[in-house]
Amino acid sequence: METIIQKVNPEFFEDEELKKGCGILQSGGLVAFPTETVYGLGGDALSPEAAHRIYAAKGRPSDNPLIVHVADIDGVCDVARNISQEAWALAKAFWPGPLTMIFDKQEKVPLSTTGGLETVAVRMPVHPVAAALIRCSGIYIAAPSANISGRPSPTKAEHVIEDLNGRIEMILDGGQVGIGIESTILDMTDKIPVILRPGYITKEMLEEVIGEVKIDPAVTIEEFDRSIVAKAPGMKYRHYAPKGRLTIVEGRPEKVVERINALVHEKEEEHKKVAVIAAEESKADYRCREVYSIGSRKTEGSIAAGLYDILRKMDDIGAEYIFAESFAEDGMGQAIMNRMLKAAGYHRIRA
Ligand code: AMP
Ligand code: MG
Repeated sequence: METIIQKVNPEFFEDEELKKGCGILQSGGLVAFPTETVYGLGGDALSPEAAHRIYAAKGRPSDNPLIVHVADIDGVCDVARNISQEAWALAKAFWPGPLTMIFDKQEKVPLSTTGGLETVAVRMPVHPVAAALIRCSGIYIAAPSANISGRPSPTKAEHVIEDLNGRIEMILDGGQVGIGIESTILDMTDKIPVILRPGYITKEMLEEVIGEVKIDPAVTIEEFDRSIVAKAPGMKYRHYAPKGRLTIVEGRPEKVVERINALVHEKEEEHKKVAVIAAEESKADYRCREVYSIGSRKTEGSIAAGLYDILRKMDDIGAEYIFAESFAEDGMGQAIMNRMLKAAGYHRIRA
């Protein structure tokens, strides 16, 4: 299949430019598009065939449900039921934006979209291209991240092209996305809402609006324990992993530099391809041919935005061993370290 790649300037575009994409979605085809978090791979959320095509294009297990993207409150009510007062308060505070909420599903949402669950994950994106695509097509868009299953989520159209060119009808290229990690997923079907995946909207931000929020134990457990059934089925799959062995090194900054330099030396002696992932501030301290800056410690947003691109670069350069600094786990740092630890298969050491 020939994939149409079309550029759209998110700051200045006419709905007319999205017409072809809307037509593809309406007739059951797949369109990758930018959102504020990562690129999504969109299909008609109410069509079981479109859902099957999404799973096939990504190579994703079909018990891993898709998030349904809507443009407005009517859309939320059309796909979800039993929406609590708390959920409306959160919607008011954070929608449109990078928050996904889980509700009981309406009959019309097929089980193929929800991975066989009676619940549905709903999000209202704020990215102008994503919002316009939902509005113009008049459909609800089921969209997981637009990557091959197991690879880092795409934060640029180039990443989507790498993974899905020839497998889907169209890619809308809106340049680099703003946030760079996936939405926060909050399960609203329990009395006390539960975070199933940390993201840009932090626990503190949610609690400021509705009071107590819990974090699902599967978010923080080190190895996937089969006795704990992960509530977000996606959490049981290994994610974002580069092909090389990623190790996260924790501890005092000087100790981390010292330890990583020693490890790099050891692996280079063995003629292995080694790379270091560091913050902008400490990048110059490493003695390694391949040192990559992930972003500045002064702005955790820049680290989130750079993370997946760097993980993909590790594969591009064929890194066999990768040593990364660790980052603070407060605020959005929780989401950043959650993704980094998953990418490392929870392999971390203390300097
Ligand atoms: P992605 O679309 O790649 O960001 O992945 C979507 C994530 O949302 C996966 O981890 C899913 O397991 C999770 N998810 C989607 N729908 C549900 C649901 N109904 N219940 C729990 N988790 C869900
Ligand atoms: Mg994904």
